[in-house]
Amino acid sequence: MRRSHSYSKRELLNSCLRQFFYEYYAASKKLPFDSARKPLVQKLKEFTGVYLLAGEKLHWFIEQFLKKGPSSRDWAERTSTSGFDLAVRYSRDPEANAGLQNLAYPPPMLLEFYYGDPRAEELAEKAREALFRGVRRFLEHEPVKKLWSEITTGEHYVEQRVGGLPKFDEFGIEGQIDLVGRDTERVRVVDWKLGVSGGSHDSLQMLIYGLWAEKKFRVEPSQVSVRRVFLGDGTVEPDRPLDRGIMVVGKARMLQDIELMKELDPYGRTGMEEVFSPCHRENVCRQCKYQGICPDSRSGLAPKQTSASLMVLPSPV
Ligand code: SF4
Repeated sequence: MRRSHSYSKRELLNSCLRQFFYEYYAASKKLPFDSARKPLVQKLKEFTGVYLLAGEKLHWFIEQFLKKGPSSRDWAERTSTSGFDLAVRYSRDPEANAGLQNLAYPPPMLLEFYYGDPRAEELAEKAREALFRGVRRFLEHEPVKKLWSEITTGEHYVEQRVGGLPKFDEFGIEGQIDLVGRDTERVRVVDWKLGVSGGSHDSLQMLIYGLWAEKKFRVEPSQVSVRRVFLGDGTVEPDRPLDRGIMVVGKARMLQDIELMKELDPYGRTGMEEVFSPCHRENVCRQCKYQGICPDSRSGLAPKQTSASLMVLPSPV
């Protein structure tokens, strides 16, 4: 595993350490893991879920629209929804739709269909509606339009990759910022969400925003503000200014994560799956790509035996 920290690593550390192991160690070509399951874990790593895909397509639409301008609107909307639909079509019947894997951008397998979740169709429909609603709210909801219109009239960056930040305990920090704008007084960060309002800001993301703005614009955290926009219900949260306290909390929490990752690293590198505790939570397991290989899964589901799923079953030894 690369010595780095990111929002996706934070999410897995919080939800299930076993899943963290499959994602960052077991699937790695260079590291040892049960040779009977390794090919399958590598295949499962490429899977996604309906809501993750809808969120990814929504972010892609916004990126294209803000970078290419309003003339790209119809194309970007069509491309994002047809990409989602293609993944559903493929996942419903991978055998009949095997040819879709030869496309320039092959659709991913959706885990809800692969594992025969009885709610797969319903969840896919709801995620599609969320994507459609998110695009509409971005384009038509006045408070949202006002926000991105204001920011994009000045110096701004869309889907900005964060790199080159100082290392912490030899770990780099990786991340991406959805939209950031700068005027003479402040730096404004916007975080698009597919869902409805709720939850709190993630301390790692706040830290990343502050560190990046400090490096890029030489500004203090107090000159940086963050706001989340929930395109599921149109909520534009008030600006949340950063301050030194938020940065200290973010850094302390990040160092705890790094400590845990360092402690687990030797076990991950030697393929010791059992050291990484399973979460044993049905709702988490049902959204986990690795439920089909995890001996401790509580999802109650198993892969559907299509020829495409057989394709990823391990070869006999
Ligand atoms: S199936 Fe459940 S316990 Fe196993 S890795 Fe996934 S989330 Fe963790």
